[in-house]
Parts: sequence; structure tokens; C-alpha cells
Amino acid sequence: MQRLQGIAVSPGVAIGEALVLDREGFRIPRRFVARDAVESELARLAEARRAAAAEIERNRDAVTRELGPQYGAIFAAHLQMLNDPQLQQELEQLITQRHYSPEYAVSRTLRRYAKVFESLESSLLAARAGDIADIEKRLLRHLLGERREEIAHLTSPVLVLAYSLTPSEAANLDRRYVRGFVTETGAAGSHTAIVAEALAIPAVVGTGPFLSEVSGGDLVIIDGNQGLVILQPDEQTIARYQREAEQQRSLETRLAALTELPAVTTDGTRIHVLGNIEFPHEARLCRELGCDGIGLYRTEFLYLSSDTVPDEEDHYQAYAYVMRQMESKPVVIRTLDLGADKLAVVAHRASDEEPNPFLGLRSIRLSLRNLPLFRTQLRALLRASVLGELRIMFPLISTVMELRQARMVLADVMEDLEEAQIPFRRQLQVGMMVEVPAAVIMIDQFVEEVDFLSIGTNDLIQYALAVDRSNKEVAGLYSAADPAVLRLIQLAVRGARQGNRPISLCGQMSGYPMYTMLLLGLGIRQLSVPPAAIPEIKQVCRSVSLAQCEEVAARAMALEHARDVAAYLREATRKAVPELVV
Ligand code: PEP
Ligand code: MG
Repeated sequence: MQRLQGIAVSPGVAIGEALVLDREGFRIPRRFVARDAVESELARLAEARRAAAAEIERNRDAVTRELGPQYGAIFAAHLQMLNDPQLQQELEQLITQRHYSPEYAVSRTLRRYAKVFESLESSLLAARAGDIADIEKRLLRHLLGERREEIAHLTSPVLVLAYSLTPSEAANLDRRYVRGFVTETGAAGSHTAIVAEALAIPAVVGTGPFLSEVSGGDLVIIDGNQGLVILQPDEQTIARYQREAEQQRSLETRLAALTELPAVTTDGTRIHVLGNIEFPHEARLCRELGCDGIGLYRTEFLYLSSDTVPDEEDHYQAYAYVMRQMESKPVVIRTLDLGADKLAVVAHRASDEEPNPFLGLRSIRLSLRNLPLFRTQLRALLRASVLGELRIMFPLISTVMELRQARMVLADVMEDLEEAQIPFRRQLQVGMMVEVPAAVIMIDQFVEEVDFLSIGTNDLIQYALAVDRSNKEVAGLYSAADPAVLRLIQLAVRGARQGNRPISLCGQMSGYPMYTMLLLGLGIRQLSVPPAAIPEIKQVCRSVSLAQCEEVAARAMALEHARDVAAYLREATRKAVPELVV
């Protein structure tokens, strides 16, 4: 049994068989093959070796022709290694005697060879490790070639263990079979983490390297509450996790009773708990869990989960579905927040070349630079506005100019629809995200120009603290409990109050019960949270008084360090709502 500590990004526990994807997306298969499959597995290895050798020969000939024999010799050396009888014998023995799969035998043997070269003093010889890795990849590619797509065609439940997953890869995981995932890289604020919550599957990121320790089919536990991954768990551990899962289910049953009840504090203040969604179908879950509306619909996921560019009708259908689910409740739809880690190739090719994409052409900047894309979305939004209480929100606003430009494009699209006699609601509310420190500093100006605001702490934290939200290396510095972040939230809430505009909070912190009292104490009255968090957050609201929350906020604001703030908030929440595990 081996335990790995990572970062918990989506709660819950999953126990099951591993599906391992290495750095290049290769699926690392089972370690063992059945006894009666040995002959066919040997044949598969021989075929892969023949194909790899033919490929290397072609490379050798082409390079010799183009660059001369001294370069071609590199490939001749590869060929020699591949055809080395000792290597052949070793691989075949592992398959026939230990019943290893050819892929596992290849990886294991060639990685061992590479390690020997790496440890040699001579830099010339150490460089040969790279050649061996090259041969390993080539052989694996031929062995796995037709199996690479298997992740898209799963037939039984798995836990995905990967080097990394982009937000789009995570969005495209088959929810029927993928019961959880772990990535070696990544951090709490990454969009991949947000997708995990949307899929409602336990997930842990940023564990550091461990994939070489597992193979496909190994038993694994993903503990998305504690950020733990347990490889090859023993009986006792499995039994403990099964008990915990049982307790969790009973808590969920108790919380389900809250569905019909509003989030009202013990002294009678109504708090609005809304849902954050990435996919239209989540709106139904939000409704079933008793939300007060949708506080953030991240529409860029329409692009991230599709191979083709969504057209106006695709946008419209997605929005119309959400509107119908919510009936007359408010639905805040955010315009595209593409770029940075949410890259849709179709929308933005230049991002690959951006040296610092989180500070680059992302979000509203990208929409304003790409007007046809922006206008298509705005047309669909306006058309859907007749279906209920649709509100439009612009992301990543950092200057008043930018906000005015976005509003101008909206006004222009309204004119077009009017001319074409397409119905829409002219009086719909328009708001902005507060997720750049500049927007907090200039809040008095912004409130004059919008109908509502929503604080996006996921980005606000990274821009205030200069900590990349998706970088594992600095994950320890990324904290919603940082005193600087708390002050920014306080300033934003005060600014909105003075300008008489409603302000909500929709960053991930809104979904953690430990922050609810603090946020209510700072004056927040609307929380937009991931769907699964709706019952818990309602429960906290219904268990506390505003006076209690204000006291907690005042105490938290007086602390100097993020760690102390977090510990204090956890304790205060535990005391106020003991039945919740925080
Ligand atoms: C945020 O930044 O807090 C936010 C809600 O937006 P996203 O996580 O999609 O960047
Ligand atoms: Mg954001």
C-alpha cells in the first residue's frame, strides 16, 4: 500500500481499478497477461518491433540523404539497440515467465537501461538515456497504437490516473465510467479542478510523480476530501473508506431535506444560494438541490467540450435549456472566458505563443478582439433573454473602458436584432466579474456602469498574490484565506454597497462551508457555488446569525497569516455547524 498526498479539488471517495495515462497520453496497460495469452502477446511484441525497426530504417535513410551519414548514424545506433538479442531475450522472458504484458515489459526494461546510462559520469554516455527513451516510446506507440482511443470507448468503471489533464480533456471524460481522477500536476484553482466538480467525481491534483509505480488495473482509492491517493490499499483501508462513504451518503440524505427550505439565517436574513455551472445539464441538478438560480454559467465550456465551433443556434439551445430549467429564477450567463488554460483551438491559435497567457489575451479581451465570436454569443443570449430572468455578465473586466466597449457591442447587437424583428428583453441586467485587483480598486467607478457584480476569487487570488492558480509549485501560496484577499473582498463589498448594487461571490471559496460565516460577516448576501455544495452552504446559512458571522469576520480580519485564518474559520464553522465535516 502506498499513500500520496495531493490537493483535494473535488470531494468524495472513489475505489476502483486504475486507468493510467502517461505524459504523452498513452494508456499504460495492465501489468499481467493471462497465461494462455502469452503466445499471442509475444507475437504482438515481435510485430511492434518489426514496425519500429522499419520506421527507424526509413528515418535513417532519409536523414542520411538530407544531412549526411554522420547524422544517419544516430538512427543506425537506435536500430542496433532495438535488435540487440539480449534485450529481446529479456523482454521475452518477462512475458513468458512472469506473464508481464509486452508494454509493461518494454517500459520496465528500457527504463532500467536508461537509468544505468543516466547514472554514468560521462555526459556523452548519459545522453544515451535519451536514445533509450526514444526507443521505448517508439515501441509503445506501436504496441498501443490502436489502443490510444480506449479512453473514449470505456466499457467499465475506472479511475483515471494521468500526468495532466487539460480542462477540455477533463470535460470530455466519459461520466458513465470515469469515477474519479488524479493528476501529477495541477493546482486547486485550475479549470481542470473546476471541471472535476462539475462532473461531480472525486479528484486530486498535484500529487507529483507516481505513475511509474502503477499499472492499469491496479486497485486505487481516490480520497477527494483529504486530497489522498492510495495505491494498492489493504483490506482494512478499503473497509474504512467504505464506512466513510456510508456516512457521507447519510449526511447527503439529511441535507436533501433542505431542498425546499430557503437559506435564511437564524435572525431572519435571506441569503441567496445560486449554482455555478459549466454544462447546461447541471442546471437541472441545481434546481433539484433547491438553488435560488444560476449565479455563474461558464459558457466557454461549450467550446471546450466540442470539436467544432459552436454556432449561434448551439449557443441558443444551451441557454434556452438552462432558462427553462430555472423558470423565473435568475440565470447569470457569463460571456466567453476563453484563453489562458481554457484554450479552444478554434477560437484562439495565438495563445500557444503567449509567454504568459494568464496575463495575456484571455476572456473579455479575447472577445473584444474577436468580434464575430462575441457577437454570435450575444445574439444567442439576447434571443434567450425572453425565456426568463437572463442576466449577462462580462468576465475579467480590468478597466472601465473595456466594460464600456463590451456594453457598446451589446447595444449594437440589440440594434441588429431589433431591425431583424427578433424579440429580446432590452431591460435585461448587465453585470461584471470582479476578479482583477484593478476592478476592486476602481470599484466606485464600476458600480456606476453595471446592474450587479460578482467576485471571482479564483482569479482575484492569483492576480492579487501573483500566484498562478494552476501551478503546483506555488500551490501552497494560493489561498482564499490570505489576509490580502479578505481585504479585497471587503473593499469590493463596501464599494458595491455604497453604489447600491448587488454583489455576489462565485469563486470556488463560496462552495466551502468554512468560508460561509466569513463571507456573510463581510456583507455578502448571494453565494454562487458548485451544485454539489448547495445543500451544505444552505445548511450553514440556516445555522448561524448575522451577528455571529460579523464577529467571525472581524476576528478573521485581525489575523496575520492565511494559515491562522483558515484554522480559525474551520474551528468557528465546526462549532456553529457541528454536523458538517469542514
Ligand atoms: C473566478 O475567477 O473566481 C471565476 C469564478 O471564474 P473562473 O474560475 O471561471 O476563472
Ligand atoms: Mg475567473
